[in-house]
Amino acid sequence: MTPYADFSYETRPVRVVFRPGASVTATPEEAERLGLRRLLVLSGSRGESGARAVAGGLGDRCVAVHPGARMHVPAEAADHAVAAARAAGADGCVAIGGGSAIGLGKMIALRTRLPLIAVPSTYSGSEMTPVWGLTEHGVKRTGRDPLVQPRSVVYDPELTLSLPLPLTATSGVNALAHAVEALYAPDTSPLVALMAEEGVRAMAGALRSLAAGPEDLDARCRALYGAWLCGAALGATTMGLHHKLCHVLGGTFGLPHAETHTVLLPYVLALNAPAAPEAVAALRRALDTDDVPRALRELAGSLGAPRSLAELGLEQDDLAAAAAEVTGQPYPNPRPVTADAVLGVLTAAYEGREPETSGAGHPRTVKESGS
Ligand code: NAD
Repeated sequence: MTPYADFSYETRPVRVVFRPGASVTATPEEAERLGLRRLLVLSGSRGESGARAVAGGLGDRCVAVHPGARMHVPAEAADHAVAAARAAGADGCVAIGGGSAIGLGKMIALRTRLPLIAVPSTYSGSEMTPVWGLTEHGVKRTGRDPLVQPRSVVYDPELTLSLPLPLTATSGVNALAHAVEALYAPDTSPLVALMAEEGVRAMAGALRSLAAGPEDLDARCRALYGAWLCGAALGATTMGLHHKLCHVLGGTFGLPHAETHTVLLPYVLALNAPAAPEAVAALRRALDTDDVPRALRELAGSLGAPRSLAELGLEQDDLAAAAAEVTGQPYPNPRPVTADAVLGVLTAAYEGREPETSGAGHPRTVKESGS
């Protein structure tokens, strides 16, 4: 059946402001619009100076800066941040940084109902989703709650000028992964497909420009625009095998988030492509290629991104345990998720092999079993 015949789509209230310099100039305006007078500003330790600049712009509206964000939102980091918000008598939060800082703001919102303003400095797209994540006892849990969706998002492309090229590449591919899974999600829709395809086109084009000149502000604008669209596509759909694999490898095996997305995406796409022809067609148009998995791998590699899970520190002995953990959890995916298929994806990604696709871009993939 055509994707235009049967779908639902929910729009969530979020205001987006996009302009160079907006982190300092527009954040106070967004606080004013939301009626917030006692803001806690959140960041990671490396992003503290940027957070202090935003806090300076907020003036009396900032009651404290809390630079306690950490990758994968460990439970103790969330506990400390909630305590800091309560101790400061905050009536809202501003999260400035990547997905880790925004994720910390989401946990405060979930537990205290305080509204969140997000000022992203990477391409993670978390700012556009009602999805939260928390890592406890070596397991990363995620959930959806409209409470954690930021009320305002301030996109300032100047903030992303400092992203090193490898992080630009991996964060950019993290955004592409959202679009890829949104295109074949069971709850995709024509609007999501438009956003995802345009997001991939914008991000991939920007990454090619940034490889030649990382300080090209126009390319930084296009990348952040692409990240916005890919994040919005993620926020509107249910993710599949690729995101689940990344959560398990991050939460249980401590692998870095965006890098893991970057290494895995070509292999998961190669697996899913035969069952997702419309998604593959959209990606071919957006990337101007006949071989999407290979093009993704080459794009990231040309910007210095890692190519194998071994490079990220995964041990060969962990592959079977990771496959078992992923296979044990139900979630939608275009092709049935079997232990053999997941182990095949993980092994290929561990070794950093060429993804197995035919020249026409119809992947041969691992042998189907159980479908
Ligand atoms: P991150 O926020 O941990 O940032 C990665 C590193 O980049 C950090 O060291 C940070 O200090 C640095 N950094 C950030 N911005 C920078 C800049 N402009 N210049 C230089 N350095 C900069 O990583 P991330 O990839 O942005 O986010 C990953 C986290 O976000 C994970 O926990 C992931 O699960 C979560 N996430 C959540 C969603 C969602 O919808 N809930 C979506 C995507 C990612």
